Amino acid sequence: MNKQYDVLVIGAGNGGLASAAWMAKEGKKVLLLEKHNLPGGCAGSIVRGRFEFELTLHELCQMGPEGTGEVRKLLDDIGTDVEWVAMNEAFHTINTHPETGFDVEMPIGVDAFVDAMEREVPGSRASMENLMEVNRMIFDAISWLASYQNNPPKAAMLLKWKDFMKMASVPADEMLRRLGVPDKAREIYESYWDYLSVDCTRVSFVVYSFMVYTYLTLKPYIAKKRSFEIVLALEQRIRDFGGEIRYNTPVKRIDIRDNKARGVELADGTYIPCKRIISNIMPTVVFDKMVDPKEVPARDKKLCEARTLGPNGFVIYLGLDASADQLGIKGYDTFVRETADTEVLFEKCKTRKSHRRIFNYSCLNRAIPDASEPGTCMIMFLLLYTADAFDDVTEENYFKIKDQIVEETIDYFEEAAKVKIRDHIEELVTASPVTLARYIGTPQGNCYGYAVDMWDGMLPRTMSGEKEDYTVKGLRFCGGHGTQMDGYSQAYLSGREVARYTLKDMEEGR
Ligand SMILES: Cc1cc2nc3c(=O)[nH]c(=O)nc-3n(C[C@H](O)[C@H](O)[C@H](O)COP(=O)(O)OP(=O)(O)OC[C@H]3O[C@@H](n4cnc5c(N)ncnc54)[C@H](O)[C@@H]3O)c2cc1C
Repeated sequence: MNKQYDVLVIGAGNGGLASAAWMAKEGKKVLLLEKHNLPGGCAGSIVRGRFEFELTLHELCQMGPEGTGEVRKLLDDIGTDVEWVAMNEAFHTINTHPETGFDVEMPIGVDAFVDAMEREVPGSRASMENLMEVNRMIFDAISWLASYQNNPPKAAMLLKWKDFMKMASVPADEMLRRLGVPDKAREIYESYWDYLSVDCTRVSFVVYSFMVYTYLTLKPYIAKKRSFEIVLALEQRIRDFGGEIRYNTPVKRIDIRDNKARGVELADGTYIPCKRIISNIMPTVVFDKMVDPKEVPARDKKLCEARTLGPNGFVIYLGLDASADQLGIKGYDTFVRETADTEVLFEKCKTRKSHRRIFNYSCLNRAIPDASEPGTCMIMFLLLYTADAFDDVTEENYFKIKDQIVEETIDYFEEAAKVKIRDHIEELVTASPVTLARYIGTPQGNCYGYAVDMWDGMLPRTMSGEKEDYTVKGLRFCGGHGTQMDGYSQAYLSGREVARYTLKDMEEGR
């Protein structure tokens, strides 16, 4: 006889863990089902030789000291025990364009950031100060929205935040030009664009600026023992609250009949009935592969088809036998590209060809000096690709292609950062979109959910969140593909948001 659960959560990625922990904290009977033998999804570590590599996390957004950022509050409310490390740099950005290039380290703190920009771009101060004022208003508006759990009274929203609403439909690049930010300052400011995985001509100004301002005021954070520390802390809290977790338990089918969730069927044939399901698996996969096609509502199928998948990634992890100081590696998180035109850069993500010179790298030892043994350091390179870039890869050419990407990345790194690392490589690990597709189960290894577009950005998603952009009763989605967009912080927030909606459904007998 199956035990009765209030909710089944499928997938123990960041979103699934946060959702399960929140539901369990509220006293609900939760069963979390994960196909792998350990939790985390994209979050985790890999150990090779004497190095423990962070799998994906560069930095968390919306953290800050206790009681400040939304993500910090969420993780504290759940009671996660994590040793946090705050960063004092915003980013290091290298543009290798022969005429207009730059190599700049930008600090956190609004004043320090504006000062650094003025040193790099004399005459930028007035427009940057104005921009920061606007950013503060955006931050306040989004915090106000969050205080209503993203479901504010619409009239108050329009009256109180009309400038914010107007700016929401203006792309970041255009707004920065309208605000008179000088070209070079705009280009430096736009360095973060690939965190949102869409170029600045397509991402909403308010979304972009909110991210930058949050990093500047609340600081970027990581966990001292890497992202797996957060994963384990969440997992522990789920158990403390009485939640149940089953690993090595792939869900094969979600049972939907007459537009209602009824339960799930596991890969081993076991059926678990439950009328509330939170899926950490993206809707495209659920409706394509896990639901009887006859039961997929036409509207939900259309919505999936209308959305574009965000990029996937190729990751290179290097363990080096010299320290960051010995090698002269600057900064924790660095963006490297040969032009600052984000539209051109986004286009380059569609190809694997060798003229593609764009990536981001982080050196964990710059944030946590003892992250590896003294006299060593680690670098993680992330190259974004859109799905099509790996279309022609076959079993025969796969390894050759991986080698080629690694060679070109190291060449360009040495040229751009002016740091020689080739002779110091002790460990080298790669994760391609194929690896990601196999591990987390997303189409083409997508790791950034749905592409953020003006019509499908954070605001349209959050504002339609509770009304459910997907319509099956009892089935909700959380994760980097959710209303808050991609990323760790966003996956946690979407996990909490969906848990809250589910609790409300339960209270109201829906
Ligand atoms: C290289 C790289 C670098 C990144 N850097 C950053 C960064 O610096 N900052 C940031 O914020 N974000 C970053 N991201 C993005 C971030 O990792 C993701 O957006 C986020 O972790 C996604 O979380 P999720 O909740 O959607 O779950 P996912 O990580 O997608 O996990 C889904 C879970 O569901 C499980 N699952 C799948 N199918 C089934 C099934 N049938 N049955 C049971 N379980 C199933 C999977 O095993 C997995 O555990 C990065 C991603 C990558 C790949």
